Amino acid sequence: MNLDATDEQRALAEELRALGAGELGRDLERRERTQTLQPGDWQRCADAGVFALPVPAAYGGRGLDPLSCALALEGLGRGCRDNGLMISVGAHIWAMELPLIEFGTEEQKQHYLPALMDGRMVGAHAITEAQAGSDALSLTTRARREGDHYVLDGTKRFITNAPIADVFIVYATVNPELGFTGVTAFLVDRDQDGVTVESSFEKTGLRTAPWGEITLRDCRVPVTRRLGAEKQGSRILATAMAWERSLILAPLLGTMQRQIDECVAYARSREQFGTNIGRFQSVAHSIVDMQIRLEAARLLTHRAAWDLIKGGPSVFPEAAQLETSEAAVRTFLDALQVFGGLGYTTATDTERNLRDALGTRISSGTSDMQRKVIAEKLGITVKARRPAPRGEGDASRADAR
Ligand SMILES: Cc1cc2nc3c(=O)[nH]c(=O)nc-3n(C[C@H](O)[C@H](O)[C@H](O)COP(=O)(O)OP(=O)(O)OC[C@H]3O[C@@H](n4cnc5c(N)ncnc54)[C@H](O)[C@@H]3O)c2cc1C
Repeated sequence: MNLDATDEQRALAEELRALGAGELGRDLERRERTQTLQPGDWQRCADAGVFALPVPAAYGGRGLDPLSCALALEGLGRGCRDNGLMISVGAHIWAMELPLIEFGTEEQKQHYLPALMDGRMVGAHAITEAQAGSDALSLTTRARREGDHYVLDGTKRFITNAPIADVFIVYATVNPELGFTGVTAFLVDRDQDGVTVESSFEKTGLRTAPWGEITLRDCRVPVTRRLGAEKQGSRILATAMAWERSLILAPLLGTMQRQIDECVAYARSREQFGTNIGRFQSVAHSIVDMQIRLEAARLLTHRAAWDLIKGGPSVFPEAAQLETSEAAVRTFLDALQVFGGLGYTTATDTERNLRDALGTRISSGTSDMQRKVIAEKLGITVKARRPAPRGEGDASRADAR
């Protein structure tokens, strides 16, 4: 594994940093209150090729490998203060485009990928239900086959991008008695009859990332819009989670670096007791620990990206998600302390970064679930399986959350 970024990777990261520091994420304080993205930001990302990063050239994308994507997105996050926008962008790329690339039919890819890349369409990934959170594959949304259609019924909640999404990957069961082996994925267009979207719940952080609830009532989805095979849903979810957990927090690495740089500058300029506060060991060491945590999270992210290139089983997607989200919470908490009373105000980005980081310990699976999945992959614990009839469904269960 080569840790040196190439000139091209560095140039792209710098290009996206400049994009993030320029037009993106303006008017953030007001939009935090209204829980909205800045109009035009989605299109700015599309125009800069952000949504095309991992999409194969055959579909008009940039065809970049996961490590190049991680470096590019860290650059974007380094520049952009709007962490909500970053999560929204990440959900679109890793939980919509990637499963489509991996499991979509040629017709589905030709239909959706160009529009998802050029900004005409926004994607969302809908698995969570009121009674199926960490235990996501215990979902109850039903898919009944009727001729050349499936009829979907159920409600999903906490879905990033739902209020602005044009297409959803929805997970439903074709037979609840099959447990996780009955789960099947569908591409559901927002304008289909039987789809309603509501913006429920105010979030603590990541407030600019739109999220909501999607309800399907007698929603007829053509068989041609099933993603992958029937009963392949748990495998599709496992793949989506491997990509999402590896890469969705790459921009947060950039946010952490920006925050640490601000702490260094403040520690060098703020004077108390006749000297700058950076001369106090407790302050200096606190910032040192921030940088070390960031380096560890970055290395794990790069290792997870590297394993995605190689393929095969890996604990690094969960390790990267766990370490990055926990490091971010700790870093922003410590940064708040470095800034003292100022850090506790909205005059710095610190309190908002902290609120945003708290959400990353829950989305893509809680920290408890990342540890649980790693323990299973290491063979320390055995997965709890619901009984399923022999020969039914796709046996590869992912503890999705
Ligand atoms: C910012 C954000 C964005 C999100 N975006 C999406 C999205 O786009 N699409 C989507 O489908 N969902 C999304 N979610 C939902 C998210 O995936 C769930 O909130 C998450 O999986 C946890 O489920 P839950 O909220 O039902 O909590 P629960 O599963 O009820 O967990 C409650 C507590 O119990 C713990 N717990 C549960 N099971 C175990 C266990 N086996 N071992 C140890 N501890 C356990 C959890 O760690 C947690 O502390 C998002 C959530 C957030 C916060």
